Amino acid sequence: MLRRLLPTLLALGCGFLALTWGLVSLQRLFAQETEDARQQLRSRREEVERIATEALRLKLRQQLEWSLPAINLAVEDPLVQADGLYLLFREYQFLPRLPRPRPGTQTPAKKLHEELRQALEAPPAPGPWQERLGLLRAVEAVLPKDVLDTPEAAERRLEALLRYRAEHPLPPAQEIPYTLLVVERLARGDASPWPVRGLIHGGLAEEFGGMAQGLGLQRELLRDCQRFTQADFDYLTERILAVSAELSEPSEAFRSRVQELGTGAIVLPSQMPEPTLIGARWYLEQQGEVVRGIAVEPAELLKGITLEMRKRKLLGAEDSVRMGRVDALQPVSSLKLDAVIPRGAAEEAQISKRYGLKTLLVLICGALAVAIVALAGLAQHRKYRFLELKSDFVATVSHELRTPLASIRLLAETLEMRAGGSPEVRDYPTRIIQAADGLHFLVENILSFNRIDKGRWVAQFTRVRLEELMGALRTDLASATRVPVELTEDVGDVELWADPGLLRLLLSNLGRNACNYNQSNPVKLSVRVHATPGHGCTVLFGDNGIGIPESEWENVFQDFYRVTQPGPEVHGSGLGLALCRRIMHLHGGNLRVATSGPQGTTFALTFPEPPPP
Ligand code: ADP
Repeated sequence: MLRRLLPTLLALGCGFLALTWGLVSLQRLFAQETEDARQQLRSRREEVERIATEALRLKLRQQLEWSLPAINLAVEDPLVQADGLYLLFREYQFLPRLPRPRPGTQTPAKKLHEELRQALEAPPAPGPWQERLGLLRAVEAVLPKDVLDTPEAAERRLEALLRYRAEHPLPPAQEIPYTLLVVERLARGDASPWPVRGLIHGGLAEEFGGMAQGLGLQRELLRDCQRFTQADFDYLTERILAVSAELSEPSEAFRSRVQELGTGAIVLPSQMPEPTLIGARWYLEQQGEVVRGIAVEPAELLKGITLEMRKRKLLGAEDSVRMGRVDALQPVSSLKLDAVIPRGAAEEAQISKRYGLKTLLVLICGALAVAIVALAGLAQHRKYRFLELKSDFVATVSHELRTPLASIRLLAETLEMRAGGSPEVRDYPTRIIQAADGLHFLVENILSFNRIDKGRWVAQFTRVRLEELMGALRTDLASATRVPVELTEDVGDVELWADPGLLRLLLSNLGRNACNYNQSNPVKLSVRVHATPGHGCTVLFGDNGIGIPESEWENVFQDFYRVTQPGPEVHGSGLGLALCRRIMHLHGGNLRVATSGPQGTTFALTFPEPPPP
């Protein structure tokens, strides 16, 4: 059974392997396709992140460049706002401004200011102040209280005061209270002389101490704040604001700078070879001994970059960029922005979903293939099992028919002998014998066919003279048919390497067919041999029967195949020629129709060269 199933199983196995290979390749293709799609998404995101990061670096550089004039101005002028600006030169931080008043409650400057005011009222003043207070008194004496034009005398005396002040500078702790007193005494509201205004805010011309001393009280106090205690500083600030208001001099910037004082130092590494972000707030660039920088608002910058990229269609309406992990000291070159692309996440999910679906389909196909192979295997097994049972059954029945057939024949022969020439029974016994022989022949055919088909026939090869087989054929035909048969043979002394029993059966089949499918009288048979030395021989078996249509020449060798022919009906099983061809195959040869027509049919039996004796 397994032998019969083997070709089917092999075909199924090969088919299954091919299908598995196909499915595995398909799955690999899907995996590759998915990876490619993911890679494409990743590349797109990386490209967006690269562009965004580059834009951020550029913006930082640009913002610092634009802030350079502001930085220079803030260093020169203490009144200029320095918020968000950074400058370090030779390890001293100029911006944001570090100086702040000393802590403490002592008020030496306030005391000096009050003493000088009293001394102004009630001279004489202590030594060094004699001259300065004298000059102030002189100006005050000629400066009217409510006249808009300053008299020339007052101008000259004021000039002398300022010149003296420029030529005899005092330390800021004394100069600032004195100057404050001068301004307070000479202030006349809108009618104040211009140098008095300069002493508060605008500064003076160079000859009166401009640049060096004459920057104006507001700037001087800011510049020298660390020389005062907090209490003195607050006192002076309050008074400067008061006179500024009285003279309508701008004081907003001064008030703001006072509040900003001593914002704090920024600790930098000793070397900063490349632009760096400090604490994600300060962007600094070092050039030799100078470090310049600005405070940045990353959230604002990122917002701007996001908008720009949306405009350039690099980001969708819902996409944005954000800062990745930023260290306390982050070199800008290694800064990286992350792209937030919700659409990308959705696409990635879609890709995974598609891949899952395809994998599922492949798995289903695989499962179907397994199921189909299993079902086909089962169906084949059942089919062969059924055929096996059928052929076993036929074999058993045929086998069991042999014994009763033999008995029938024996009894018919006995009856023939006893009945002698009795007219009542006529030729009945002979006909019984012929019928039994026919049945016996059929049983032999079936049994032999079955055994050869199942490979159970063990052929007994021997050298057989063809002439001897012709004799056996003659005897068989004489008993099997009532029509006269003329057998002409031209076989010489040809010897075949064959199983004699099987060859007898074969020739009987051919001979009986020649008689059955024949309407001539007598039936003429001819057997000839063509021997080609070294290539075996061909036996040509001819008759004068009704012939076989050419389209059926091959079909007649199929199992149980019969040709419907005109003329009287001939009974048969359709097994004879199929058995004959199997017998020839068993001998290593073949059987075919050589010629056929209304004059008769010739079968060609080819035998291989017999082995050397
Ligand atoms: P069966 O004779 O039992 O029908 P065979 O296998 O011997 O089965 O023959 C198959 C068919 O071939 C026959 O039905 C017959 O039509 C045709 N056939 C066989 N031998 C001859 C012959 N010598 N002449 C004409 N027809 C033949």
